[in-house]
Amino acid sequence: MTNKLKNAFLKTADVLVENKDYLTELDSAIGDGDHGINMARGFTKLAEKLSNNSYNSNSELFKTVAMTLISSVGGASGPLYGTAFLNISKVITDQKAELDNLIAIGEEAVAGVQKRGRAEAGEKTMLDTLIPAVDSLKESHQQGLDMQTALVNCQAAAKLGMKNTIEMQATKGRASYLGERSIGHQDPGATSSYLIIKTFIDQFA
Ligand code: ADP
Ligand code: MG
Ligand code: MG
Repeated sequence: MTNKLKNAFLKTADVLVENKDYLTELDSAIGDGDHGINMARGFTKLAEKLSNNSYNSNSELFKTVAMTLISSVGGASGPLYGTAFLNISKVITDQKAELDNLIAIGEEAVAGVQKRGRAEAGEKTMLDTLIPAVDSLKESHQQGLDMQTALVNCQAAAKLGMKNTIEMQATKGRASYLGERSIGHQDPGATSSYLIIKTFIDQFA
């Protein structure tokens, strides 16, 4: 499993590098135009690091991911993603994940971002992708859906959450400096979060 997760991170690095210009374009509209550069740089460093090492546990893998992203993504997003993955490293085990484990992992990731960034849902940030994704997993669990269906629903919820940031006014991060002028643009961090979730789910669903 650790190897499969490692490969999912390598694939995510490819996807973020492919989307570098797109993410940077989104950030040019409401930020400082570096989100694609930041994510591509950090995940390229991560891919190098993961390719040259092997990991004995999922926890060890996620800790490395966190440390590498914190030191190489930069910007506001680096420490936020880093803390999310660091929190995951504290709860992830090597057992086959069931839906309730996955929910706990998602909740830890959201808690990490919120601890660092002090944002809530609706402020036009990465949380507007992450929170609906976790909520969707919880709903699937309550409805007794199987893992496969839950993952498909989660991916759709993350995508909708990302799209919903278009109509939001940013009240956290650089985009908040624009006030109402931030409305009408998709949030770059919500977009990178969707790409990460989508890539992971594509590897496992
Ligand atoms: P910077 O704004 O420092 O240039 P990036 O461009 O890499 O950093 O990342 C910007 C993204 O970070 C935003 O689109 C938003 O999703 C996310 N972000 C910024 N501040 C916060 C926060 N307080 N909480 C959650 N996410 C945030
Ligand atoms: Mg930026
Ligand atoms: Mg910046």
